[in-house]
Amino acid sequence: MAERAAGPELRLHPGREKSLLQRHPWVFSGAIAELRGAPASGDTVAIRSADGRWLARAAWSPESQIRARVWSFDETETVDAAFFDRRVGEAVCARAGFTDAAHTGCRLIHGESDGLPGVIADRYGDVVVLQLGAAGAERWRDAIVAGLRRHTDATCLFERSDADVREREGLPARVGPLYGTLPDAVTLVEDGLVYRVDVAGGQKTGFYLDQRDNRARVRRLARGRETLNVFCYTGGFTLAALAGGAPRVLSIDSSAPALALARDSLACNPQLPAGAAEWRDADAFTELRRLRDAAASFDLIVLDPPKLAPTAHHAEKASRAYKDINLLALKLLRPGGLLATFSCSGGVDAALFRKIVAGAALDARADAAVIGHFAASADHPCSLAFPEGEYLKGLLLRKAR
Ligand code: SAH
Repeated sequence: MAERAAGPELRLHPGREKSLLQRHPWVFSGAIAELRGAPASGDTVAIRSADGRWLARAAWSPESQIRARVWSFDETETVDAAFFDRRVGEAVCARAGFTDAAHTGCRLIHGESDGLPGVIADRYGDVVVLQLGAAGAERWRDAIVAGLRRHTDATCLFERSDADVREREGLPARVGPLYGTLPDAVTLVEDGLVYRVDVAGGQKTGFYLDQRDNRARVRRLARGRETLNVFCYTGGFTLAALAGGAPRVLSIDSSAPALALARDSLACNPQLPAGAAEWRDADAFTELRRLRDAAASFDLIVLDPPKLAPTAHHAEKASRAYKDINLLALKLLRPGGLLATFSCSGGVDAALFRKIVAGAALDARADAAVIGHFAASADHPCSLAFPEGEYLKGLLLRKAR
């Protein structure tokens, strides 16, 4: 009887199995000693240590530095359509308590931390947006779509697989409906506030759901505080601050479409004082200097810049940019003022971020204390085995003088 052909297999260099034994889901190109078989992009490969020990089943990404992403550490688990149905079902089920009348959005699938590397799914009311960012996720696209169809009651599933990471994986951009029709206006209710979401053309999947708890926190702090919201995107923190009783909010972003949508969102909330919001289309680095030179001051500042350091490789240059904006923000803060400052850079961890902000305070001659910490909301879990998942971090500071 002919022996059943063994599937494709990766053999690692001696000692390089360590991270997999700790259940970290990535295999970098430098760890691989040998590829046996000829897997196509996205195919499932078995990973073995140098001495032949079975370690994991993973998706083959021939064009990426992350050459394989683990689907399963269980040798008895097959990677097939049923596997994706199960994983999607588990992820959706884990968010059961996250949506209600006051919160109609949440992240349904958060990549590696939901056991689905390269898969992001965000819910905005009846619309779910899917983003596939790795070869394995692309290979199992139909099964993932079927899983979302079965486990959610979304009327439209829309694909936004156009993130930069796809290029590194050798995958073309794909944007369009997977089923159903995208409504002309997609809205999201968060903390009772209505936001317009540009699913087809906005950043990420259209909205920064990861800041939900932090926007609620800022809302609770805003009463009576003149507020500056830098890198405001579609006005998330702006509306939250207005709802919390900020008498005036100045919001800055360099994206005109984002600011236009922010205005639309504010108009969807007639209970908010529209006249209290001022929107400025400007480069934040320049505008913060201009405000400083004009001796402007605020009681509450939100600083939520884009990912300045995608990887640790960019950390040094990014550190200077983070320090620059934090220094300027601390100067613009009145005594007793609050600064909510964030970094969503995977390449800057919480310890480094705190150090950067401390350096900024020193240079600004500001006496400031940390009175709180921010992280992504709980629908963005972070697997203990995957520290890279903890990308969003923030500090709440109070300036003494
Ligand atoms: N706080 C927002 C998310 C911010 S995302 C929320 O809660 O929804 C980062 C934003 O920074 C994006 O909207 C992007 O357009 C903007 N941005 C990037 N570079 C900028 C720059 N140099 N000046 C001003 N805005 C910038």
